[in-house]
Amino acid sequence: MSAAKGTPHLWLPYCQMQKEGVPRRAKRTQGTSIFLDDDTELVDGIASWWTAAHGYNHPAIYKAVQEQLLKMPHVMFGGLLHDPAERLAERLVSTTNGQMSRVFLSESGSVSVEIAMKMAVQVAQRRGMPSRKRFISFEGGYHGDTFAAMSLCDPADGMHTHFSGAYAEQYCLPLPRDEETFAKFSKFVALHSNEVAGIIVEPFVQCAGGMLFHEADALQRIEKVCREHQILFIVDEIAVGLYRLGSVWAHQIAQVEPDLLTTSKALTGGTMPLAATLATEEVFEYFCSDDDRHALMHGPTFMANALGCAAACGSLDLFAARKVVDNVDAISAQLLSELAVCRLHAGVVDVRVKGAIGVVELDNKDDLHWLRSRFIEEGVWIRPLENVVYLMPSLTITPVALQKLTSAIDVVLKERARNKY
Ligand SMILES: *Cc1c(COP(=O)(O)O)cnc(C)c1O
Repeated sequence: MSAAKGTPHLWLPYCQMQKEGVPRRAKRTQGTSIFLDDDTELVDGIASWWTAAHGYNHPAIYKAVQEQLLKMPHVMFGGLLHDPAERLAERLVSTTNGQMSRVFLSESGSVSVEIAMKMAVQVAQRRGMPSRKRFISFEGGYHGDTFAAMSLCDPADGMHTHFSGAYAEQYCLPLPRDEETFAKFSKFVALHSNEVAGIIVEPFVQCAGGMLFHEADALQRIEKVCREHQILFIVDEIAVGLYRLGSVWAHQIAQVEPDLLTTSKALTGGTMPLAATLATEEVFEYFCSDDDRHALMHGPTFMANALGCAAACGSLDLFAARKVVDNVDAISAQLLSELAVCRLHAGVVDVRVKGAIGVVELDNKDDLHWLRSRFIEEGVWIRPLENVVYLMPSLTITPVALQKLTSAIDVVLKERARNKY
């Protein structure tokens, strides 16, 4: 007999269903708010896992999806092409100024990472280096929940510890932030280069791993080492891409040129599941030959879903109109000024802001469940990652709504400090 609470048949993610309270029920969304079934309004501080970049229920995305729905919601992508996919690929390529020229569409971020891994392994084979099957990732990184994507996550992170030994071992190294760590990193790569097909990094902010920041020089150092050893440089922009840090792709801020790029979360503005793996023409050319075996061996059933592609085109049109883009600086400045007071509360160990990401790090994760329910009482939807309270709101959020979020954090952390210290 199950002691789980709240819902008789659903199995919820990352949740101890016996212990945790009954989850609240969402009924509808509007603008930057989620409405619960009792009509409670919650201002969303995390844009539904960082997806709803344009706010909820955006009419332009609706229109794009509705028009596509009347024509063709989905068709298999094996042996058939369709306009929404081609339009989307063209738009994505244009965001890279032609630096990347090929787009492989899939249905989730984790899968887009797995596809990048497959591409890197096949490229190594085509370059006559078949022993290169492993990957280097970085401490604090997160690249997804499926087995291969999981193998790239920081093994010290609690999310995946049950499965160690069940997936391929990769190399997880400290980010090369200064001369000393860079020297160690270069030495390691030189020693292991004949095993390594790719190096993957979340540019500037390692998000799910705790909203950890690094600077452009780390990315430049990684790129340099990749070039020296003919290793593919993979940027996972699933969280930080699409203007979260003010630039369409975060890596462009560091002026590095990756071989592969993954995107998903804000791609459809949080409306449909869709992801993409972007590749340079050089990478793509390794897959072109008169030998069938050199084709890319991947093809998910729902890849390039036409509704998803239409939604993504709608979302990219909104980004291209640049209204949200200009908003990133304003959000950043407001986060910086309004979260600063949190430094005064006992138990707060750091406050940091990059782009439209604001972070208040606590000394421990003991109050996670208390925090989550207190935020709901304050009328905001904020879900700390263990000891990290963060905001990653829609880029359309108004100053008033953002202030509601920052002041809720202030109030709740002040109360935490009073209760504990
Ligand atoms: C969310 C995320 C993923 C996984 O995407 P899913 O769509 O959840 O599979 C991978 N990498 C990064 C950086 C992410 O933030």
